[in-house]
Amino acid sequence: MSSSTPHTAKLDRILAETQRERESGYRDKALKMYPHVCGRCAREFSGKRLSELTVHHRDHNHDNNPQDGSNWELLCLYCHDNEHARYTDQQYFGEGSLSSPTIAKATHNPFAALAGLMKKD
Ligand SMILES: [Zn+2]
Ligand SMILES: [Zn+2]
Repeated sequence: MSSSTPHTAKLDRILAETQRERESGYRDKALKMYPHVCGRCAREFSGKRLSELTVHHRDHNHDNNPQDGSNWELLCLYCHDNEHARYTDQQYFGEGSLSSPTIAKATHNPFAALAGLMKKD
């Protein structure tokens, strides 16, 4: 190994570490800021189960982490999942009406045509 570590490599590592800290940091902040209750189903979480409580980004932008917590919402895993499924549906329907829905249909079940052929046989 060389004794002279390139300065940029060191900087890269520091930046990566800072980013990692920032990503995990907002959860701790949100948990300190808000009561440990799911914003949808109002279930309470404490102790080990606290890991089931996750931080949702209201505008769905994980890079948007204002220090006042206005973009954060504590949701349990299930409600968080629902929230994202709903958002994806909205996006899907919004786009589907404009662009061709056949692409989504084709990727939905690539074996449907094949199954149809086999049944005919
Ligand atoms: Zn919930
Ligand atoms: Zn979310």
